[in-house]
Amino acid sequence: MRQRVLSGMRPSGKLHLGHYLGVLVNWKKLQEDNDCFFFVADWHALTTEYERTGIIRESIDDMVIDWLAAGIDPKKATLFIQSRVPQHAELHLLLSMITPLPWLERNPTYKEQLREQTTRDLHTYGFLGYPVLQAADILMYDAALVPVGIDQVPHLELAREIARRFDFLYKEVFTIPQAYLTETPKIMGTDNRKMSKTYGNAILLSDTAEEVWAKVKPMVTDPARVRRSDPGNPEICNVFAYHRIFSDRETIEKVNVGCRTAGIGCIECKKWMYEHMEKVLAPVRERRNQILESRVSVRDILEEGTERARAIAEKKMKEVRDAVRI
Ligand code: SF4
Repeated sequence: MRQRVLSGMRPSGKLHLGHYLGVLVNWKKLQEDNDCFFFVADWHALTTEYERTGIIRESIDDMVIDWLAAGIDPKKATLFIQSRVPQHAELHLLLSMITPLPWLERNPTYKEQLREQTTRDLHTYGFLGYPVLQAADILMYDAALVPVGIDQVPHLELAREIARRFDFLYKEVFTIPQAYLTETPKIMGTDNRKMSKTYGNAILLSDTAEEVWAKVKPMVTDPARVRRSDPGNPEICNVFAYHRIFSDRETIEKVNVGCRTAGIGCIECKKWMYEHMEKVLAPVRERRNQILESRVSVRDILEEGTERARAIAEKKMKEVRDAVRI
């Protein structure tokens, strides 16, 4: 049965392998049999980037080109920009009136981010309330399924609680969304830290084959394997973790044995991994180049999707205003 699916991504410019494996592969599958709405979460970006807003708008085109290159198809899914559908802000406001503060304050991500983000001041009303904005995004489209990783389940639970509270206080208006739990391979950056453009350890979907190899070649391996003749431990090697994601079983076994017995060298091992990874990256790169050459207008695609989203959002807001009697 086709279901309405909603998912968003903050505009962060060019995307890397982590985004591809963690989100886009899943979106691509979902768009085949569902009514998918994928949006550019630019207002969400504001909750943390309010002092550097310039990068938000600039990042949208690069990000959406990568969506298309990864196989997200605007004929199958509706792609839109959150801030171009102002109904999201209106619903956010109405939901914020009925959301008890402790629901937001106990949010584990909120507490964690306040602790971790030491370079930004996140003691703002907007940052505390962003799960309410998220609830508005989801409930607006009667999304039945929301793809989330296990760490985002508390946010979705909050959206469900807010929807139930609204329905209880006024009138049953919202579909209660379900989490669509996605298990995605966890990929680290080339230096074994979290993959991030700011750390300079990310493999970008827009990298050329040569750029990818230049990043793979110096990848951190088992530090105890200093010489070619030293046996290694693949379990603690990031290159082996990549093999597990990209290579076939035969190659993985060959590496497992060859590494432990010093039968293979690290460069050889990296080359095999790179060749398997290229089977994933090359088609994405090729589509990306085709998109750029064909001058497909990302703005037109987003404009069309935004209009479709806006019409649905306005219809829902009429029900909401009616229920609140405002
Ligand atoms: S042979 Fe491969 S798995 Fe073993 S340490 Fe070198 S890169 Fe890592």
